[in-house]
Amino acid sequence: MDKISTLIDWIKESKRIVFFGGAGVSTESGLKDFRSKDGLYNEQYDYPPEEILSHHFYVNNKEEFYRFYKDKLNTNDCKPNITHKVLAKLEKKKKLSSVITQNIDGFHQDAGSKNVIELHGTIKKNYCLKCHKLYDEKYIFNSKGIPKCTCGGDIKPYVVLYEEPLDEEVINDAIREISNCDLLIVGGTSLNVYPAASFINYYKGDKLVLINKDKTPLDYKCDLVINESLGKVFTEIEKKAL
Ligand code: ZN
Repeated sequence: MDKISTLIDWIKESKRIVFFGGAGVSTESGLKDFRSKDGLYNEQYDYPPEEILSHHFYVNNKEEFYRFYKDKLNTNDCKPNITHKVLAKLEKKKKLSSVITQNIDGFHQDAGSKNVIELHGTIKKNYCLKCHKLYDEKYIFNSKGIPKCTCGGDIKPYVVLYEEPLDEEVINDAIREISNCDLLIVGGTSLNVYPAASFINYYKGDKLVLINKDKTPLDYKCDLVINESLGKVFTEIEKKAL
């Protein structure tokens, strides 16, 4: 039997699926991954993306931080794709218990998913450092220069910047979900970025699936490795498992 058919059989017999997704989930929507070579690196900025999107850079150079942020992290006309949509359907059918994502674009919620654990935060929430008033992403992306609160305070995206720790509660949620799931599907991540690699160690079952176009250093830990695009695999899932 081919690998996608095996995955579809496993989905049919599972009740608590967890999907753990990386940048590859959103790049299939046309979003750029700023870690990839043809991603956000370009000549318009004097610093690499990892430095601009860091805590110290935000504190010391808000103007340049926001120039990059608004230019590169705006999801613009990109929309959720088939993978986001099928995951939302699996949740609605009570097959999937949660999506854990490293992405900050909010596409899973846009597609209808309710239980989404966002390890790196989200562009959709932004808060005033002074009075904690919340702002949506449109307010940020439509602002000129450094976005300001009505109280005059600076606004910070609810996004985990480089040098900042992940939220402990969010990590615990992710670990709990992975420990309790019967089928763990990892997709669109090469598993060499913290904390993806360490998280899969919490899975106790025997159905760990990795969907990634390229080989990863942790392929040997998986029960099933599918080297296909997520779009192709989830199109098949929609046809045969839903
Ligand atoms: Zn304020």
